[in-house]
Amino acid sequence: MTKKISLPRGTADILPDEIAAWQNLETTARTILKNYRYQEIRTPVFEETGLFVRSLGGASDVVQKQMLNLSSMKEVSETSLKNEGLSLRPEATASIVRSYIQNSFDKKESLSKLYYIGPMFRGERPQKGRLRQFHQIGVEAIGPNSSIPSLDAEIIALSVHLLTSFGLKDLKLKINSLGTKEDKEKFSGLLREQLRKNISSLCEDCQQRFDRNVFRILDCKNEGCKKIVAGLSLGQTHLSKLSQDYFSEVKKALELWNVPYEVSPTLVRGLDYYTHTIFEISHKALGSQDALGAGGRYNGLVGELGGNNVGAIGFALGMERILLVKSKETVKSSLEVFIVYHKESMGLNYTKSSAESPQEYTAQHAKEFGALMETEAYKEAFVLLNNIRKIGISADMSYFPASMKSQMRLADKLGAKRVIIIGENELKENVVMLKDMEKGTQEKILLDKICEVLK
Ligand code: AMP
Repeated sequence: MTKKISLPRGTADILPDEIAAWQNLETTARTILKNYRYQEIRTPVFEETGLFVRSLGGASDVVQKQMLNLSSMKEVSETSLKNEGLSLRPEATASIVRSYIQNSFDKKESLSKLYYIGPMFRGERPQKGRLRQFHQIGVEAIGPNSSIPSLDAEIIALSVHLLTSFGLKDLKLKINSLGTKEDKEKFSGLLREQLRKNISSLCEDCQQRFDRNVFRILDCKNEGCKKIVAGLSLGQTHLSKLSQDYFSEVKKALELWNVPYEVSPTLVRGLDYYTHTIFEISHKALGSQDALGAGGRYNGLVGELGGNNVGAIGFALGMERILLVKSKETVKSSLEVFIVYHKESMGLNYTKSSAESPQEYTAQHAKEFGALMETEAYKEAFVLLNNIRKIGISADMSYFPASMKSQMRLADKLGAKRVIIIGENELKENVVMLKDMEKGTQEKILLDKICEVLK
């Protein structure tokens, strides 16, 4: 037997019976985002590696360990990190900022409100809720007029609004402020000071993070590290007066919109570009990978990537994790009409194809199909199917001959709202039966009036 090819590790097929749930997320998101005046932007799924290294930070875990480089087969290691070539995007903020600068958005408007929906790629160790190709719905508000606390509140409220509109409950929103770049320096100094005495008890990764990216220690899942982090005494002392005032206004604005939040002094984000307000929304049903989405302000990034010095804030929600919490809700396809044909004497056995050549139409099949096509019920059903679809109504029927009972079972399985039953006897009077599957009622309709009635 020929060897089967499997899908790459850490990726997933989104199968037809799951697609309705995905489309529902997308449609709901687009409607809400439009109401908040966000416009869609689509950027390529790969970019110059340097874009990600410069924006996420060379010391971030994403750049160090998870970048999927296209132009080189070599592993990206800590020592031989490549700042050249092309990489699949691990997130979209950097790409959108690149596009914002390249297309001079700041000359067109003082605040650009953008959103995206699409796949991201990270070479992570796959586990539940952590994939190598996953999908995000994300938002970025960028512009000279974007450093304003009410916009931070809008962005946070929007992420919660999206998640609740997807039907999620029991969300936990944590917020914190990193302050300006200078405040952030102070924060990392403070952290190192407190962690120094326990450095030998940290896990190997965190010992390296101590110098390279001390904030990541706060996110470590290692039990020993978690204990050390729980013992830290962190507050908002790293923040300047102005940064503290900014954060207070953000909280006030959230309260005005009735968005419940919790201030978490240990909440940090692993990427270099974050400043001021940061936030994360989690759900306990997700276990260790409990973040549904996260975001924050990134005021320095546009300037650092060669644009004007404008502010920005955004977030990304993980679609796979949202669907995991929605507990794999499978939505029935919304079929409007299913046509059932019926004739007492109809031959019900369409010979099964043989195992050796299942794709072949045999002489036996030709004989049986020819006989089926001769029956008025099948022929009328087939013609009507085409007419119904042409007037814009979704419709289907069983192409294989089957008993009336099994055709009705299929109609039910497909979630058909109405069933048209075409029987040989009724056809003699030029009528068909129209059954309403929800109400359970049934009525006779003239065959040439059925399309009108369905409309
Ligand atoms: P991040 O850009 O890491 O803050 O991710 C934002 C959101 O995307 C997370 O809260 C997750 O919901 C989702 N996400 C991030 N990485 C993965 C992954 N490897 N697999 C699935 N979802 C992910």
